Amino acid sequence: MTDYPMIIGGETRMADSTFDVTDPATGDVAGQAPNGTLADLEDAVAAAKAAFPAYAALPDETRRGYCSQIAAAIEAETEALAQLITRETGKPLQGLGSRFEVGGACGWAGYAASLSMEPEMIQDDNEGRVAMHRKPVGVVGSITPWNWPMLIAIWHIIPAVRSGNTIVVKPSPMAPLSTLRLVEIINTILPAGVVNVVTGPDEIGAAMSAHPDIAKMVFTGSSATGVKVMRSAADTLKKLTLELGGNDAGIVLPDVDPAEIAEGLFWGAFINTGQTCGALKRLYVHDDVYDAVCDELTKLTAAMPMGSGLDEANVLGPLQNRMQFDKVVALVEDAKAQGGRVLTGGAPSTGPGNFYPITLVADVDNGVPLVDEEQFGPALPIIRYSDIDEVIARANDNPNGLGGSVWTRDLEKGRALALRLECGSVWINAHGAIRPDVPFGGTKQSGLGVEFGQAGLDEYCDRQVVFG
Ligand code: NAD
Repeated sequence: MTDYPMIIGGETRMADSTFDVTDPATGDVAGQAPNGTLADLEDAVAAAKAAFPAYAALPDETRRGYCSQIAAAIEAETEALAQLITRETGKPLQGLGSRFEVGGACGWAGYAASLSMEPEMIQDDNEGRVAMHRKPVGVVGSITPWNWPMLIAIWHIIPAVRSGNTIVVKPSPMAPLSTLRLVEIINTILPAGVVNVVTGPDEIGAAMSAHPDIAKMVFTGSSATGVKVMRSAADTLKKLTLELGGNDAGIVLPDVDPAEIAEGLFWGAFINTGQTCGALKRLYVHDDVYDAVCDELTKLTAAMPMGSGLDEANVLGPLQNRMQFDKVVALVEDAKAQGGRVLTGGAPSTGPGNFYPITLVADVDNGVPLVDEEQFGPALPIIRYSDIDEVIARANDNPNGLGGSVWTRDLEKGRALALRLECGSVWINAHGAIRPDVPFGGTKQSGLGVEFGQAGLDEYCDRQVVFG
């Protein structure tokens, strides 16, 4: 079995012990990761701190070039990285699976080369000159989840290094292998100490959030852990970007053609078997088209093979871990007990692997936990409505505010309704499509700040204004 080392100060480092990473499709061991300690974290932060002054002083052009080189190096290893992601997450190699994830990582890394670190001239005339400069903040701490492990690591690493910071990355212990390999690749390009990775238990994440030498934390994960990160970052007043949980509502208006929108709805909800922060998690459908939308989604589900991600025939994989599996089982059982009508699925597989079928639950409403809570899995509640004002109120009646969607032939009406939804992104006739040039982030309890685009890069910078 391949050993995946940590990288600290440009050197590979194993720990005294390792922990197993489980293949969710089989329950077998997919690989082993170093069981890093708080001493390893100290070394990683010290290495990042030592590397910062020289790295920050490099010409901006050099850092642009690094981003392009990183994109090319990832692309050259697409297949091996995709296999690794599939083994640790279960997602299919094909379709919107692990090759797509690696492709996204290349796209985000490459795009960063075009972002600007140039000063903005606020005034430059006979009366005077005021220039606003972007400066790196220092050492960044990154904590990532298991659902899109490599892509999210890139979303943290690339803006940090593009803007002249150094970084310590701590991946989820559930799926750390592709991040370990990614950081190894990046270290063949960047100076030693710029990007470091430490794997191990959750306590490493907690120690990072409180570390006095870390100037900024970027965290992607659950809202509950985001609160802990924010709390422990407070003592040292760290800058924070928090990308947290979502419970996105989709609203289907009566003017749609159900057959035409079914595929967009399906993948909006079930990309990565529903384990995606910005997936469609509650579907509100107008009474006039409710039965037809339910029928089309049920038909489509039958045509979507689920199984081992390594088998090219499959477009859907297992849940990544048992905790998530149990959560989906409990939410669906509860919805059934409260009168939910299961259109398809609803019965967990008995193993091996964490397979739970695509499940559509009709005739539920707000107040049922499957609607109110983030299921983060392949079970979609479908809610009937007849009044648009009332359905907007129901969609907004949630502590999360990551994304939302409106499905209609009338774009003007869709845009007007989009503005009434309390969330960071709204798609019309689509759900969840994100781009490296468009800011993405949550409102309400879905997070703080944005990632991507110039606005995302600016979160990794201090602003310094020079008068005169
Ligand atoms: P999680 O919160 O359980 O874990 C995320 C990371 O935090 C892991 O690396 C974990 O080791 C670490 N961690 C655990 N305890 C910690 C502590 N006390 N201090 C610091 N770090 C700690 O989340 P998860 O189960 O890995 O991921 C699923 C969640 O992530 C979902 O809620 C999903 O919506 C969210 N998510 C959000 C986005 C987004 O962009 N908004 C993207 C992906 C996932």
